[in-house]
Amino acid sequence: MNFRGLLIVVSGPSGAGKGTICKALVKRDPSIVVSVSATTREPRNGEEHGIAYHFYDKAAFLSMIDNDGFLEYATVYDNYYGTPKQFVIDKIASGENVLLEIDIQGALQVKKKYPEGIFVFVLPPSMKELKSRIVGRGSETQESLTKRLSSAYSEIEYIKNYDYFIVNDTVEHATDVLQAIISAEKCRVDAD
Ligand code: 5GP
Repeated sequence: MNFRGLLIVVSGPSGAGKGTICKALVKRDPSIVVSVSATTREPRNGEEHGIAYHFYDKAAFLSMIDNDGFLEYATVYDNYYGTPKQFVIDKIASGENVLLEIDIQGALQVKKKYPEGIFVFVLPPSMKELKSRIVGRGSETQESLTKRLSSAYSEIEYIKNYDYFIVNDTVEHATDVLQAIISAEKCRVDAD
């Protein structure tokens, strides 16, 4: 039986809509807590420090690495991103379910340290749709758009390292599927 919280790790190509699904899930199920990542990238319009991300400069991020402050960290599109470790440990120990929305490099690091996590890969309905979602966001330069799209092709290969995939056809449906996965995992007999 499961007496500790679940660690749910959601990854997928930029623009697949994983952030939107995670937000929709938490709205439906406020008992799930989202880990706020640290990053060295600049805030986008409307992103608040401590809510969207902890926005750190490079020196602060590197010092957190030195102090073993991250469960995982990676360089994604030329910026550092990392999951502050203590928050996740404390929440899971107290029985709360924690959601990480992180890239594949980070997910693989978490899987090594915490194989009992639930690893979910979000796919866009098509690559054409993926491109139009990233363009529609309006926050990328041509260079970063090209980078994100070419990464998407190689990232999809990593789906085999995940336990589940979700095709984000509509946010509503994709959120239903994620919720169903979590509900099923809560009922696992062989969990610790
Ligand atoms: P964005 O800059 O669009 O917010 O995020 C870019 C990528 O970084 C996304 O794939 C996102 O999942 C990933 N990311 C966000 N937070 C973290 C984190 O804490 N660790 C890792 N490894 N990736 C992250």
